[in-house]
Amino acid sequence: MSYKNTLCAFLASSLLTASAYGNISDNQEAWQYAILDNNLSYQLTDSLTTQIGARMIGTEANMRAVDWAVSHFKQLGYDKVWTETFTFPLWVRGEASAFVESPFKQPLKVSALGGSIGTPKHGIKAEVVAFPSITALKKAQPKDVKGKIVYVCVKMQPRKNGSGYSEVVSARTHGANIAGEKGAIAYLVRSVGTDSNRMPHTGIMKYDTNQKIPALALSNPDADLLSREIISNKPVTLSLLSTAHYVNGKYGIAKNVIAEITGRKKPKDLVVLGAHLDSWDVGTGAVDDGIGVGIVMATGSLIKQYQGRPKRTLRVVLFNGEEFGLLGAKDYVKQHKDELANHTAGLEWDFGNGKIYELATRINDKDRSMLKSLLKKLEKYGVQLDSDNDASAQSDLSKLTTLGMPSFNLMPDGMTYFDVHHTDNDTLDKVNQKAMRINTMIYSLVISHLLNLEQRFRNI
Ligand SMILES: [Zn+2]
Repeated sequence: MSYKNTLCAFLASSLLTASAYGNISDNQEAWQYAILDNNLSYQLTDSLTTQIGARMIGTEANMRAVDWAVSHFKQLGYDKVWTETFTFPLWVRGEASAFVESPFKQPLKVSALGGSIGTPKHGIKAEVVAFPSITALKKAQPKDVKGKIVYVCVKMQPRKNGSGYSEVVSARTHGANIAGEKGAIAYLVRSVGTDSNRMPHTGIMKYDTNQKIPALALSNPDADLLSREIISNKPVTLSLLSTAHYVNGKYGIAKNVIAEITGRKKPKDLVVLGAHLDSWDVGTGAVDDGIGVGIVMATGSLIKQYQGRPKRTLRVVLFNGEEFGLLGAKDYVKQHKDELANHTAGLEWDFGNGKIYELATRINDKDRSMLKSLLKKLEKYGVQLDSDNDASAQSDLSKLTTLGMPSFNLMPDGMTYFDVHHTDNDTLDKVNQKAMRINTMIYSLVISHLLNLEQRFRNI
């Protein structure tokens, strides 16, 4: 058997592994069958992660990802494709290492947090002081942390809706500020992730103080190890080295990629789909957010192919610089301020590939009846309406939610999403093809409904 045949056999067998949705073949329209049979979204994710891979802003790969997106949008039959450029301070990760020096000498797996400064050239060696939470760190006396390495060991809990992340992520984003202001010389945080791999989770941090100290994440098993050393009640000394830095005065260039399928009846009314094109420089950005890129790009193309041109215009935005603090989204809001009122609905896909269980909304109460027929169809797949009506359109598009855009969020089960998030383990083998086809079909069902409604949703 040739290599190619072996590969095909492997891919075919991996198609059969997802059965999360059970029997989904009842009462579908022909175009839904066609989308279910179509592997386009997975193929796009495969192509992006194979041909480009990791694509952090400021890297050459990120620029190639932009070219990849432009050429694929054109091939997929979008009417208009363009890019919008913004600049940002250039950050370099460099190298990072950590060792417990005493009481029991051990190497630890660490990763610099995005945006962190590095250590002095020869590193830092100091005693560790540990806190179970950010709240506990806030209450600490400066004399107890001065000159020490602060370690916050809060553990993230897996939750279906991802709320475990928001419960603890401030330990990553802001912990170094609190520690720095109390006189600490470095900051270490347990990875914000739910796995037990010896692999640190990176992610953005932001200084809002002049007392800048290096900030690093520790892999979860190493966090357990460090905690055990601390429990031994002997002083624990660590050495840390990180060469992370902003390149002095240098700005990088990044581009959002935007594509449209022009509406046949109401071309000025926009239904906006978002995903983020950039990833961290670890892994290949397959789950975060290669899946989203594949699903939103495929959705427009498949709707046009199987349903024809929709009433409203479908706009797909592949945001750049999401990982560095929604940089592309902030630029989009600036560049499109005159047409924000035309954004009649929006939703982003940036939460993996689990089974979709809920449609969350943030729309005017008077417009809820416009979802009636859609909800009936979604019920067949076990997707319920979230009654809270306070959803954000997720990630980048949350910027538009706060400006009054009617917003939707199709919630996939996120119990395992944070196992690979922002790690070397975010690779294509974590993406299930069958689940992706089903999710693309359900996503298309929602988008098609929003595109073809007689009335538009009111801004709120
Ligand atoms: Zn993401």
